[in-house]
Amino acid sequence: MYRMTVDAMHAMHRVLARTILPVALSALPWVPAAAQSPAADPKATEQWTPVPAVVSPGATQGAPPSDAIVLFDGRNLNEWVASKDHSPAAWAVDHGVLTVNKAAGNIETKRQFKNFQLHLEWRIPEGITGEGQGRGNSGVFLASTGPGDEGYEIQILDSFQNPTYVNGQAASVYKQSAPLVNAMRKPGQWQLYDIVWTAPSFDPDGTLQSPAFVTVFHNGILVQNHFQLGGETRYVGSPVYRKYERAAIKLQAHGDPSPPVSFRNIWVREIEQ
Ligand code: MG
Repeated sequence: MYRMTVDAMHAMHRVLARTILPVALSALPWVPAAAQSPAADPKATEQWTPVPAVVSPGATQGAPPSDAIVLFDGRNLNEWVASKDHSPAAWAVDHGVLTVNKAAGNIETKRQFKNFQLHLEWRIPEGITGEGQGRGNSGVFLASTGPGDEGYEIQILDSFQNPTYVNGQAASVYKQSAPLVNAMRKPGQWQLYDIVWTAPSFDPDGTLQSPAFVTVFHNGILVQNHFQLGGETRYVGSPVYRKYERAAIKLQAHGDPSPPVSFRNIWVREIEQ
């Protein structure tokens, strides 16, 4: 069998590139005229302003970048209040770790947000008990619209070998969207959520103007890809939108009897759109 030498192949490619390719390109109707014209100015499509702000990444993966609002850095709950009455948040902070106090109920940020990037780390306790939705259940509400479970919840649960309805497992948009994959680490290990939230917007009369979207990475793995929400996440019934402008981020104290979930390193970056 004839074998072309490497040099011969390169020579052939050069000939093809000089002769056949330009002819072929100019004959194709879908190649824009500008791309064929040597007179086209590449500067015409350059954008020079506004210059993106310089942001310094955190020193380690997951550490807050220079423009983040730090919501929990392991020291105190100064950024948080009880959802039910806005009294000081009464969850436990110990050795840099925040742990749910189920009796104290949900907690939420003092600040209110619209669109943002959120990072948080959470841990199912080693030796977790229970099953299904009763095994390490908590949640992060990207917008809290009431003191209970009103709002938009990304589920937190032990989904390491713990079957439940898939649109209620960890990293689901609760009762709306199962995660694309199960990226769960074992109980006792820290889990990462990196979330991009595009809030819904409303006309003054409360009519939905644009829906909410969410993108979620669980332990660095894409699990929700610009998912369009149907409204607030609800335990019973179909999702519905209710007008809000800005809202707190809320962490759930779920009533199941399993040992409580812990959190660390929570920060947020507000984004314009
Ligand atoms: Mg939950």
